[in-house]
Amino acid sequence: MDSPSRSSVIIIGAGVSGISAARLLAENGIEDVVILEASDRIGGRIRKESFGGVSIELGAGWIAGVGGKESNPVWELASQSSLRTCFSDYSNARFNIYDKSGKIFPSGIAADSYKKAVDSAIQKLKRLDQNCFNDVTKLTELPCSPKTPIELAIDFILHDFEMAEVEPISTYVDFGEREFLVADERGYEFLLYKMAESFLFTSEGKIVDSRLKLNKVVRELQHSRNGVTVKTEDGCVYEANYVILSASIGVLQSDLISFKPPLPRWKTDAIEQCDVMVYTKIFLKFPCNFWPCGPGKEFFIYAHERRGYYTFWQHMENAYPGSNILVVTLTNGESKRVEAQSDKETLKEAMEVLRNMFGPNIPNATDILVPRWWNNRFQRGSYSNYPIISNYQPIQNIKAPVGRIFFTGEHTSERFNGYVHGGYLAGIDTSKALLEEIRKELEISSESQTFLLEPLLALTGSLTLTQTEAVSNLHKCEIPTQLYLSGKLSIPEAIL
Ligand SMILES: Cc1cc2nc3c(=O)[nH]c(=O)nc-3n(C[C@H](O)[C@H](O)[C@H](O)COP(=O)(O)OP(=O)(O)OC[C@H]3O[C@@H](n4cnc5c(N)ncnc54)[C@H](O)[C@@H]3O)c2cc1C
Repeated sequence: MDSPSRSSVIIIGAGVSGISAARLLAENGIEDVVILEASDRIGGRIRKESFGGVSIELGAGWIAGVGGKESNPVWELASQSSLRTCFSDYSNARFNIYDKSGKIFPSGIAADSYKKAVDSAIQKLKRLDQNCFNDVTKLTELPCSPKTPIELAIDFILHDFEMAEVEPISTYVDFGEREFLVADERGYEFLLYKMAESFLFTSEGKIVDSRLKLNKVVRELQHSRNGVTVKTEDGCVYEANYVILSASIGVLQSDLISFKPPLPRWKTDAIEQCDVMVYTKIFLKFPCNFWPCGPGKEFFIYAHERRGYYTFWQHMENAYPGSNILVVTLTNGESKRVEAQSDKETLKEAMEVLRNMFGPNIPNATDILVPRWWNNRFQRGSYSNYPIISNYQPIQNIKAPVGRIFFTGEHTSERFNGYVHGGYLAGIDTSKALLEEIRKELEISSESQTFLLEPLLALTGSLTLTQTEAVSNLHKCEIPTQLYLSGKLSIPEAIL
């Protein structure tokens, strides 16, 4: 069992934000960082798994925002690692909408429904933006609300996928509108490993650095002016000058981590205001493929009277030819519903939907994988979704530090929340803010040392020593600063 030790910074969580935060600290000379990760791996919501003979992504799958004027930093990381990706073109999905009897809706009807749904979505966004509604549920009362299966299906695609964010979408504006699916046996998570490799010791493709501590579930953060004490579920205690907390918004909303003293009201209110989106990709493996392939066929839609009922489908033939894998995406209520039932039940439902689309003779799936992001107590959902708001105060408050606890994670990214690049950039932002805080504290500490030394020098009669010399000698000595940076002393101790 670890004994209490004091480090400069403890980072809670080894997802993309935690790792990018740690790397920036290391690059700036703060290397006595401890990373406490609840699960047995790094990556968080970037997670590959072997399924049906290929590597699939249970969490983030796409690098969104490519091809624009500015380069997406995650795309750059992917290029440096030669990560294998496939361009995704969703635009044809609306021409592959199946009804319950397996007929594809004529393109005219699909286009009309699509236009209607877009108009309705824009109207909703406008009215929300003008604060016409405080209660989002009332929006369904709009006269143009979707009613038929095709309208419901398109509404689902627009709201739970394409237009879940307020237009203009910062990711597209800044980095471009193209999206690439990661299809690499090393997984999306390889990018995190490459980042970690630059500051943690590795051997044979594994991180072997004692500063990364896996299976450490943080349960309590005790914080004061002098530092932070972190307690984990297995009874270990860690101390640091600062903490960077990268747990997801869903975890912050849960009672997994308690704060002593409790977080202030402005903070907890902001955390509560943020919606958690649940997004579930269900993978199905078949003995052969029976769905249309070829250009424009990768994505298809099932129109059902229940909104979001096995609506959005993708085949994996472009990513992994011959893999015979289909993916169906559920969100929110439907995600929670399938998480609560057995995979056998889910398989039965999915097969019924597929038989409606492709006929009774299709083969049964031989395997199914249902990720459970909602019930994972280290995630409690898939990503943050801020209410459609015209001011950014809740995000600012979620991001703002409380004493020595700094917050990071995709949910703290003003422009890119919900994305991998949001998490990556948030980690960098948070570490920059922390470095600035440390710099300020060191400045104050050296000023107060000068202040303390002046009368002392006068008393000892060292009148020949000028103030400048005293200060420069202090800087030369640097012991307090080094001890402070190395985490051996807290600031007040370092000064004394
Ligand atoms: C199904 C799904 C699909 C997605 N699709 C995309 C996509 O296509 N493209 C895209 O850009 N983004 C996508 N995302 C979002 C993207 O994955 C996230 O925005 C990003 O990975 C979040 O990184 P993070 O570091 O903020 O959080 P996380 O990855 O959640 O990292 C936080 C870490 O903290 C750990 N932790 C939590 N509580 C504790 C505790 N008490 N003690 C210690 N450790 C703790 C967790 O185990 C985790 O490892 C998707 C997410 C999901 C779930």
